[in-house]
Amino acid sequence: MKDKASSRHLPVAEISRYEPDCAFCNVSVENGFDVIWESDRLIAFRDRDPACELHFQIIPRLHIPSVRQLEKSDVEMSRHTIHSSKSKIVISFHADLLDHQSRMGFHIPPFNSVGHLHLHVQALPYKNFARRVKYPAAPGFKSFHKGFSWFTEANQTILILQQGRSVGIFPC
Ligand SMILES: [Zn+2]
Ligand SMILES: [Zn+2]
Repeated sequence: MKDKASSRHLPVAEISRYEPDCAFCNVSVENGFDVIWESDRLIAFRDRDPACELHFQIIPRLHIPSVRQLEKSDVEMSRHTIHSSKSKIVISFHADLLDHQSRMGFHIPPFNSVGHLHLHVQALPYKNFARRVKYPAAPGFKSFHKGFSWFTEANQTILILQQGRSVGIFPC
């Protein structure tokens, strides 16, 4: 169950499961989350400790531990997570997000706070420097789509997966 090496190459559907102890497997209004939108595959809710005025988390209902587990076959699912949820959120919040510069991305373990894949959707600016450094976007260079960072932006993630690579802290 916990053997990441052997689960790494299984399709997401097969490593996905409900983890009773995972906070994000238990997201619901009843459990105190400010859920703003949900579908059969995704749930979006307000971050409990927002780094900027508008800060949401979008998670798959399936328990996927992190962005490290995603691979090329997950590009479509990742795209769906990123695009469909952003447009729903933008509509829900009367385009507030469109008026700001926004940032979307994933933390890379071990620098993730919850071990369940979550996409941060943020309307910049950050509240302060301490918040900003938690989400360092690192532009790609040469053949890399992303530089050295423990945060991968949504579009970088898609490009890395499309190339058949996996996402990590080092340039990829
Ligand atoms: Zn979970
Ligand atoms: Zn995070």
